[in-house]
Amino acid sequence: MERLSLDISDVWLARKRIASLIKKTPLVKSTELSRCAGCPVYLKMETQHEIHAFKVRGAANKILSLNQKERARGVTTFSTGNHGMAVAWVASRLGIPAVICVSRRVPAAKTEAIQRLGGRLHIHGESQDEAEAECVRLEREEGLTVISPFDDPWVIAGQGTIGLELLEDLPELGSVIIPLSGGGLLSGIGLAVKTNRPTSRIIGVSMEGPAVMHYSLKKGKTLVMPERTTLADSLLGGLGTDNRYTFHMVGDLADQTLLVSEREIAEGIAFMLNHHRTVVEGAAATTIAAILSRKFKPDPQPVVLILSGANLDPSTLFQAVRMAANHTKDPV
Ligand SMILES: *Cc1c(COP(=O)(O)O)cnc(C)c1O
Repeated sequence: MERLSLDISDVWLARKRIASLIKKTPLVKSTELSRCAGCPVYLKMETQHEIHAFKVRGAANKILSLNQKERARGVTTFSTGNHGMAVAWVASRLGIPAVICVSRRVPAAKTEAIQRLGGRLHIHGESQDEAEAECVRLEREEGLTVISPFDDPWVIAGQGTIGLELLEDLPELGSVIIPLSGGGLLSGIGLAVKTNRPTSRIIGVSMEGPAVMHYSLKKGKTLVMPERTTLADSLLGGLGTDNRYTFHMVGDLADQTLLVSEREIAEGIAFMLNHHRTVVEGAAATTIAAILSRKFKPDPQPVVLILSGANLDPSTLFQAVRMAANHTKDPV
């Protein structure tokens, strides 16, 4: 079975490989969330990478594993934004050409950022799957290497370096709550954390509606679902036409997957602004929502929330804060 070819040593190798490009991110205790949950709650600040999202880890590990010929031909990817930014950023650091294929649904803040980072932008189709098809064409016709956003052992191992950092900073951790889309983030962190601390709990959170991984796990097979507008736009996208790693890995590693509503995500964004003076995007706010909504059932063990990114349009931020203010008594 191909999925068994990835293990904890790949995560350690990833950590060494990406060390020159990626700095360790802080782990911050949240007094307010600890009070709400009744147990210590920590925030892993993946918002603090130069591109404000964790995806640089996987992209760096994958691109640094390419040989000289592959680097010279260049790389390409399809992405809801953060992965595209990550590939553009890593490639430009290493002097490698990068073509980023995105669907028309990707917010302007993200496409502009990709171009600023030196990526060549290809806007194609209405969904991730259409952008993916364009990407495959570039691979076939121009010989570029496709950097997959999640279903790739190097990408998964790169995201897993977050898990190693958590074990260093909080060896007594109990649960890790992780935003869940394609599942590369959860697979990597789950592999690193569960290998070293088998009693820990790994929880995936997605938005209600097009939570493809959540429903696929329930059905026992990968599903295709229509996309729709959500505050957690970084969690949009399918599992790929031929998922080889993350569907099985998330199935093995996740103890539970939860869904949160748009209103709960908005409240998560507003909460971070209010109590931590920090901007997070909707995808990251799903983890705050899991605590505030009490959908996550805490035990006395410390909980870590993965704040996966902070890339959102100002207009979306205002919309979220307004949505939250209309539903809470506290003035935001
Ligand atoms: C990509 C992304 C996720 C989800 O990661 P997967 O590996 O696709 O599950 C979560 N949050 C942010 C900010 C992302 O960019």
